[in-house]
Amino acid sequence: MNPFLDLGIRHEVVNAITEMSFEKPSPIQEKAIPVLLTGNDDFVGLAQTGTGKTAAFGLPLLELIDFTQKHPQALVLCPTRELCLQIAKDLEKFAKYIDNVSVVAVYGGANISDQLRQIRRGVQIVVATPGRMLDIIGRNAIDFSNVKYVVLDEADEMLNMGFQEDINNILSETPDTKKTWLFSATMPREVRRIAQNYMTDPHELTVGTKNTGNANIEHHYYLIKAKDKYAAFKRIVDYYPEIFGIVFCRTKIETQEIAEALVRDGYNADSLHGDLSQQQRDKVMKRYRDRSLQLLIATDVAARGIDVNDVTHVINFSLPDEVENYTHRSGRTARAGKTGVSLSLVNVKEQGKIRRIEKIIGKPFVKKEVPQGTEVCEKQLFAIVDKIRNVDINEEQINPFLPTIMESMQDLSKEDIVKRLASLEFNRFLEYYQNAPDLNLDARDSRSRDGGERGDRDDRRSRTASKGYTRLFMNLGSVDEFSRGDMLGFICNNANIPGKSVGKIDLKGVFTFFEVEDAEVNKVFEGFKGVDYNGRQVRIEVSGEERGGSREGRSRDRGSRGGDRRDRSRGERRSGGSSERRGGDRERGGFRDFSGKRKESRSRY
Ligand code: AMP
Repeated sequence: MNPFLDLGIRHEVVNAITEMSFEKPSPIQEKAIPVLLTGNDDFVGLAQTGTGKTAAFGLPLLELIDFTQKHPQALVLCPTRELCLQIAKDLEKFAKYIDNVSVVAVYGGANISDQLRQIRRGVQIVVATPGRMLDIIGRNAIDFSNVKYVVLDEADEMLNMGFQEDINNILSETPDTKKTWLFSATMPREVRRIAQNYMTDPHELTVGTKNTGNANIEHHYYLIKAKDKYAAFKRIVDYYPEIFGIVFCRTKIETQEIAEALVRDGYNADSLHGDLSQQQRDKVMKRYRDRSLQLLIATDVAARGIDVNDVTHVINFSLPDEVENYTHRSGRTARAGKTGVSLSLVNVKEQGKIRRIEKIIGKPFVKKEVPQGTEVCEKQLFAIVDKIRNVDINEEQINPFLPTIMESMQDLSKEDIVKRLASLEFNRFLEYYQNAPDLNLDARDSRSRDGGERGDRDDRRSRTASKGYTRLFMNLGSVDEFSRGDMLGFICNNANIPGKSVGKIDLKGVFTFFEVEDAEVNKVFEGFKGVDYNGRQVRIEVSGEERGGSREGRSRDRGSRGGDRRDRSRGERRSGGSSERRGGDRERGGFRDFSGKRKESRSRY
């Protein structure tokens, strides 16, 4: 038997939610539905967003409401227009097979006449944001005298947004006999006060730990210098090629600056903040939901109530002023039982804030290292390989060209073709990151202590050479079937130097870092001049970070990565966070158009 039927939900609704792939109740649904179905109690549910709260109160409402009557019997108040629309839509979906159900969504920023017309036609469930609801009450356009249930959804967020007084006024319009169901992710004093003032002996239920974040969220932080923040942020984004994230900033100016810098650098990003018109906001949100945007840069207030599934990362570009807001931010990921990462970029001074947030979420942060350029390259390479494997092939379109293509490739082995294909995009990352500095604060501190040199004792991933050695880069690696021994031989033979002159060899996928005694460096350059390996010209360069500083941050304007630069040439322009860029450049799991014409003249640090 379907577990929802067991809980007392009627067949029609069970059929509808089965179509929505609800197989079994979520923990909050399992606990709340039996209590709410009695219709006798006030109720306080402490649960994070994304835990299935809407059905937890929505399914019981559908059982308790008399749909033969055409007057409002339930009022759901929620903080934002997005959530309001989402709840109304969900309720309609749950009620798909029940006759005569009428749900109206009442929210600001939209035509009030349409909403009034719907109310006049007769509704049983009103889902509303507080401001617009008060407006309608003020016009005497709604009769709440038969309301039996009031749901306060995301109560903490409503109070955060300053709706306390509006809520009081709205509640005073409803009968004393109504039952109030309050849902909140956190239980600050103000929410507790609502429970005390408006509820009688409420049934309390907690899913997860009180005031803590969702257990499926991992919390990471990166310790960096403030001036390296943007560079570190981009590195991290590049390290997660499949990222679909919300980036939090403290001010709207910051959101705009970051979004603009990201767009310049070829990322699909846009900003969401309080200065946008509702129309602009809707457009940005639509593009984010459609995944035409990979990164949504938002302020706390603008992001409230955003309900987008599958957000992989919440990025705290700046930590929130109020540490309590951290929970709201991180709750945008790991929805509906999924996992997610909330990561924060912090400087030394902000470490105390991390400790305070740990107390609130009841979970320690994991300190992470900003990935090294080589690590980013490896990650990107495998993302490219994955993409090549999974690309959709339009047989009809490509088949006519195949004979010509095959002919022009006939002298290349399968391996050669694979390497070339992967290198098409990979080389750009390689080039961009080959001398990229270590952006971790610890690393930079120890370097300055050492007077500009960091010995390899203190960091195995050191990108500087051992004393007396120079660290060199070569564009061949393990995929070219070199072992360390082979590589040593290859270097010694070509450079005509003894094995003892070669220090550490760091063999990577398609490239290698190796150390050579300072005195022998020229021989290596000379020896490898004009050398080919399997048809590829061998390239040797000095590796090192001293020249770099935080250039990544500064050179953000020059084609740092894929992106869909073509869009910009179509005259589509960003302004005020509402740029209209083409949405069709989405790819399987990724967002960048790797075939896009990225600027080649990237700075080389
Ligand atoms: P909510 O917390 O109500 O916003 O729900 C978060 C997401 O989980 C929504 O996409 C719901 O459709 C989905 N969801 C809610 N309950 C269930 C369930 N029992 N099984 C599967 N998905 C669910």
